[in-house]
Amino acid sequence: MKRISLIFCLLAVALLGSAQAKYVFYFIGDGMGTNQVLGTEMYLSELKGEIGRQRLCMTQFSYSGQAATFSASNGITDSAAAGTCLASGKKTNNGVLGQDAQGKEAQTIAETLKAQGWGVGIMTSVAIDHATPGAFYAHVPSREMYYEIGKQLAFSNFDFFGGAAFHQPNPKDGNKHVASENLYNLCEEQGYTLAHGFEEAQQNMGAQKMILMQATDGIDRNKPSYNIPYAIDRKPDDLTLEQIVQTAIPFLAARYDKFFMMVEGGMIDYACHGNDAATAFGEVIAMDEALRVAYDFYLAHPDETLIVVTADHETGGLALGNSDYTLNLQLLQHQHCSAWILSDKISALFKGNKPKWEDVKQVLTESLGLYNNVEVSKEEDATLQKAYKKAISHKGNDMKTMYKDINEIGALAVKMLNDKSKIGWTTNAHSAHAVPIFAIGVGAERFSGWHDNSDIAKLMLQATK
Ligand SMILES: [Zn+2]
Repeated sequence: MKRISLIFCLLAVALLGSAQAKYVFYFIGDGMGTNQVLGTEMYLSELKGEIGRQRLCMTQFSYSGQAATFSASNGITDSAAAGTCLASGKKTNNGVLGQDAQGKEAQTIAETLKAQGWGVGIMTSVAIDHATPGAFYAHVPSREMYYEIGKQLAFSNFDFFGGAAFHQPNPKDGNKHVASENLYNLCEEQGYTLAHGFEEAQQNMGAQKMILMQATDGIDRNKPSYNIPYAIDRKPDDLTLEQIVQTAIPFLAARYDKFFMMVEGGMIDYACHGNDAATAFGEVIAMDEALRVAYDFYLAHPDETLIVVTADHETGGLALGNSDYTLNLQLLQHQHCSAWILSDKISALFKGNKPKWEDVKQVLTESLGLYNNVEVSKEEDATLQKAYKKAISHKGNDMKTMYKDINEIGALAVKMLNDKSKIGWTTNAHSAHAVPIFAIGVGAERFSGWHDNSDIAKLMLQATK
């Protein structure tokens, strides 16, 4: 009896060892360093009045590791070089998309699997021609070549795209009335159905290929589109990353017996560029919600599915702790909109107007809880009022962040809330911090330990063989 069970065990090990992943999910949190993940878990725990971690889906995966992210040209990578490396295993220079450091086309895991007959989906919460998604299908010397990247998307023959639409729907200096050159038209010509919002996508599940975008994006085919709204600013009809994954899985599964999906939480990076922790944690949670959809799929197909979660780099140099032996993350619960929207609200008050300080203060209370749930000292009040007086005399210094300028009052107020929560930021740009790797499913054990970001795509491909 013992011998039979031993043989059975050996057989099972042999079978497991030879298992191949036929459903591969690649989740990339843009700018999601270890502290973005841990901070989110500790914040959720503090909300329940506890010290500890309320576990996200990703950190419960069976295997975890870390990756270094430096590019070929610098210790600190940008999203183009990092995306290229995560997609192809080739390090390249900052700013370069889909080419190696010598300018040679870097074949991506998505292209390799597509060539082997797999279904492919690329999705993100930012524009589908942005650096991370673009790194999986485009090959250009500069990530800024948005029109060219979009054109390569149209001819990628990938099955599904989801996110915000195109940065630059028409060629630069091109005549926007040349309809055949417009990217939306070009994509339709190449067999893509454009679905505006989740509902429209559900009605078009029979489409040959699909691009799913925010309901309003791509309606005016000449207007640029940048991102779906932050989770913290979300309105009921807004498209979510979770809905995109909910659409992509059945779409691909109905057409292919093997598929690969890249899902980017693209706005974690945007929030961290603005040193806005509450918004960043909301984006980590939004990506984790999308991940749960893939995890449910894994539970139904555990012997054929591989899910890997990682990041392209860390953004902001986020530190959990900025002064003494305290963390007070729960204060962030009083923030009800992103720094972007707060800045817009304050700017709206000043538009052709000289608002009273009380009006500005009310916006700070409604949006961040300042003066109400969050105590403001005399000195802090004086700092805010000084910025208010500068704004009244049009001398305010906007904070320049990568994706949006935040007016001085809004930037100061958000910084105040972050300081009080005991969160530190070292930069408005990226850092060289290591990023986490979480993996579950077939071949997941390969991702355990310390890696370079150039290993990840290679290890994923190995798991499909
Ligand atoms: Zn970035």
